[in-house]
Amino acid sequence: MVLDAFSVRVALGVVTVTLLVLFCASFHRTRSPYAGWWSLALLEFMVGNAAFLLNGSSHQQWANPLGNVLVVAGAFSVWAGAKTLRDQTAEPWKLALGPAVTAVASFLENPGNNVWSGGFVYLAMMTVGITLAAYDLWFIKASHSQVHKALSIAAGLLAVYYFGRWMVYAVEGPASHTFSTYFGPAPSGLISLVLLVTVSFSMTALTSDQLIKGLKERAARDHLTGLLNRGTFLELASAELDRLHSTGSGAAVVLADLDHFKAVNDEYGHGAGDVALQAFAEACAASVRSTDLIGRYGGEEFVLFLPGATQDRAESIATEISRRMAAMRAPEGVAFPTISYGVTSSIPAGADLNFMIEVADAALYSAKAQGRNRIVGADRLEAATIADEARS
Ligand code: GH3
Ligand code: MG
Ligand code: MG
Repeated sequence: MVLDAFSVRVALGVVTVTLLVLFCASFHRTRSPYAGWWSLALLEFMVGNAAFLLNGSSHQQWANPLGNVLVVAGAFSVWAGAKTLRDQTAEPWKLALGPAVTAVASFLENPGNNVWSGGFVYLAMMTVGITLAAYDLWFIKASHSQVHKALSIAAGLLAVYYFGRWMVYAVEGPASHTFSTYFGPAPSGLISLVLLVTVSFSMTALTSDQLIKGLKERAARDHLTGLLNRGTFLELASAELDRLHSTGSGAAVVLADLDHFKAVNDEYGHGAGDVALQAFAEACAASVRSTDLIGRYGGEEFVLFLPGATQDRAESIATEISRRMAAMRAPEGVAFPTISYGVTSSIPAGADLNFMIEVADAALYSAKAQGRNRIVGADRLEAATIADEARS
């Protein structure tokens, strides 16, 4: 019995339409970028396959190249979707390249009476697009569920199949027995059908992964400044300090408090106070390295965790933050406040994060007592006094 390509394409079309409706609904509800790309891919597969149904008619001239281009665009959209799950975006030119090359190749090979116009490039581009999707699906971060690995394998197998199609097409041509039996439109349509259902089934899990990740990211940050919130800061810094101690290195902690901040609110309004907090957050972010952690400890108090930093380095970072803050343009008529800092580095080795923060807090208290707008290093205070103050 020979599979008939027309029936397979019709079945593929029906399944695609059903999935498209389901995914558009999901995208509408969740706004998950992956669901968006996948809806687009389904639309491209669907219209592309519908165009192939016009093969043999007077429309083949334009419908055949269009089908090739859309199906290749679909494969690249699946890749773009996989990339969003890795928090990356595919450059538009990379997405457009495959379909563009396919279009040129198809039009050059007499599409009016050649149903395999541009076939060599079409199969090559399909292999590339699906391989890229398999690659990016595999490397999604492990915090997601593991469904992406199964998906990556499924896409990888499809890529191998398309590679086989491409090779046989190149060596034996589309009219050969091997090609029409194993790699022609009917068997490949059937395989696409199975894959569509598999991938779509996993989509639900991936879409909710993406949503959960977005929510977690938002929950970890302070809304006003975009810095880590207190809980997340403590959790991340504490884990990092443990890691540093196990490798024999240290870290520094800086506590910062804006001076007479209440007066900024009272004189210029709460909105101006908010702007000053955001300016301070910006000055901090510009002064530290990407591996340093910055948290909003509460109100107008901030905390920095600087892995591997010495006392001197931490104090010069504090100086740099104040310098940047002073150089920033405040809204008309508003003066940004100065800042007081308490700085400590992880000596004695093994001190836990809470203790370091307590010591930095004692140093900050001392900075305030000495007249504000200054940096006090805990190493220059009597260690015993700090510990007493910290614990009292
Ligand atoms: P000191 O120099 O001793 O630190 O004095 P201060 O005025 O900065 O400290 P105080 O603790 O008396 O006041 C802190 C103020 O910070 C009071 C509170 O209304 C304000 N504040 C806390 N969170 C926010 C915020 O998100 N936005 C604004 N605009 N103000 C805030
Ligand atoms: Mg203050
Ligand atoms: Mg305060």
